[in-house]
Amino acid sequence: MSAPVIITVAITGAVPRKKDNPALPVTPAEQIESTHEAFEAGASLVHVHVRNPDESPSSDPELYARVQEGVRRHCPGMIVQFSTGGRGRDQAARGSMLSLRPEMASLATGSVNFPHGIYENAPDFIEGLARSMQAHGIKPEIEVFDLAMLYNALALVKKGLLAPDLHVQFVLGIQNALPARRSVFDFLRAELAALAPQATWVAAGTGRHQWEVNQWCLATGGHCRTGLEDNLRYDADRLAASNAELVRKIVDVAGSHGRHAATPQEARRLLGLAPGA
Ligand code: ZN
Repeated sequence: MSAPVIITVAITGAVPRKKDNPALPVTPAEQIESTHEAFEAGASLVHVHVRNPDESPSSDPELYARVQEGVRRHCPGMIVQFSTGGRGRDQAARGSMLSLRPEMASLATGSVNFPHGIYENAPDFIEGLARSMQAHGIKPEIEVFDLAMLYNALALVKKGLLAPDLHVQFVLGIQNALPARRSVFDFLRAELAALAPQATWVAAGTGRHQWEVNQWCLATGGHCRTGLEDNLRYDADRLAASNAELVRKIVDVAGSHGRHAATPQEARRLLGLAPGA
């Protein structure tokens, strides 16, 4: 019997620009259309950053609300996850859209260097975001950019600030953070299985590592993340034509690993979320 794989599509991100790949969706209308195509291709969870008209990262709840509303209307049951990520955003505004009550939001449980600067998440700031997610009934996705973040998340479970059924994303291949090495991937998932047996997990490889990490996840029972946020290329020879094309790349090989793209209802069940529309 084939096992479901939740495919997350990270449609936009904070860094890539349209000039680097014109298929990158940046306006809410483009984001809704791109999400819909990815949903039809097999994605069941969308990870959302929003952009100002000049493409700079935004924290404007109004933009988040438009994307959320469009996805709910056009992609029945798809799980919406807002980024609380820091790049180009004011610290105080990073949780300002949680009042819109997306089903999920990202939560980085530590600080790390990114290619050009510090991704700063002080302990009290992390706890504040975790409390806000708890208050709004939002399931966090724990973003592990460096090793300590995994143990920090487990400490937050002990403190009662996170539920024990964690959903964890391992992010591999960002310069100055964790490398996309199979030994690192295997260590991270073994630690999570030992210390948080109820947890579900996904890994993301950035840039040229995306496809390799997708295949590791399919082979080892993890979930998959793809999308233009992490990687603008289909392969070494050409740019990705769309977020949907990157999703299809996973769907096309899932069967050979005994997996199938999770339906939104399967994804919700696996993540302990309420059934969708
Ligand atoms: Zn993101």
